[in-house]
Amino acid sequence: MLLSVIVPLYNEEEIVEKTFSVLEEELKNIEHEIIFVNDGSKDKTREILEKLLLQTPHNKLVNFSRNFGHQAAFSAGIDKAEGDAVVIIDGDLQDPPALIHAMLEKWREGYQVVYAQRRKRKGETFFKKFTAYAFYRCFAKLTNIEIPPDTGDFRLMDRVVVDHLKNLPERSRFLRGLVCWVGFKKIGVFYDRAERTAGKSKYPFRKMFRLAFDGITGFSSAPLKISFSVGCLSTLLAMALFIWTILEKILTPETTVPGWASLMTAIVFLGGVQLISIGILGEYIGRIYEEVKQRPLYIEDKSGK
Ligand code: UDP
Ligand code: MG
Repeated sequence: MLLSVIVPLYNEEEIVEKTFSVLEEELKNIEHEIIFVNDGSKDKTREILEKLLLQTPHNKLVNFSRNFGHQAAFSAGIDKAEGDAVVIIDGDLQDPPALIHAMLEKWREGYQVVYAQRRKRKGETFFKKFTAYAFYRCFAKLTNIEIPPDTGDFRLMDRVVVDHLKNLPERSRFLRGLVCWVGFKKIGVFYDRAERTAGKSKYPFRKMFRLAFDGITGFSSAPLKISFSVGCLSTLLAMALFIWTILEKILTPETTVPGWASLMTAIVFLGGVQLISIGILGEYIGRIYEEVKQRPLYIEDKSGK
């Protein structure tokens, strides 16, 4: 049994050696390959890794030509991984490598996806915790797949799952969502998320927002259809206005301002009609989007587990 461990790294020169030695120590009794994906680091990460890898030819290094992002780094790792099971882990030791043993145990029991679920998050701002909390709840509401709350990308996947992931041709890849989409038997193992011991988070708000946005738009076309409901509301409002102005004209003719009510009604009504039309366009664009993603219609579980 070969285990592949994928580690994305972006400007992690302060910690990469430690990550390397902790992982090697943890995995010394398991046949393994560590795939370091250097996501266009501008510091010494590449040099350090190249030196470390001279001593351990079973490990691999992929260097990106520039920063393509965390999710692209995972995809590269998955493409290179040859293991029967593949673990994805952050390179800053916030995901404890010791948990890999618990994951492997679950994998041997027959689970094809074992995700690490955070019980506590240390050293993270209220803002980060709150946005993460809100995101997972929104995501579950808007899409019909449910990502287990409080999981990151730290997880183990069986070869079968990895092969299916590789076969998904879509370009904007939100891995957490895709793994759930692929399905198969999953289970969580719990851990407390530690603080970063060195370096700073490489996820500024801008990147986090981008990831959340990619996640939601990748799995739901609900945002495209918002204007349809708003348009319906607006049209209903126009009708109510229309009735109200007629009643007002009949009941209190002396107070009505000529022209105002009919103008308002026309504006609200036309606004509503336009929004509905945009919503209809959204409906079709949503369908085109589904087609373009070229996801398979279903995935068969042939494992007999
Ligand atoms: N990372 C990456 N490319 C990026 C940003 C981050 O490969 O553009 C790596 C980073 O080196 C780390 C992992 O992704 O190994 C998680 O990033 P980070 O720890 O900054 O995220 P956080 O833990 O703050 O969510
Ligand atoms: Mg981190």
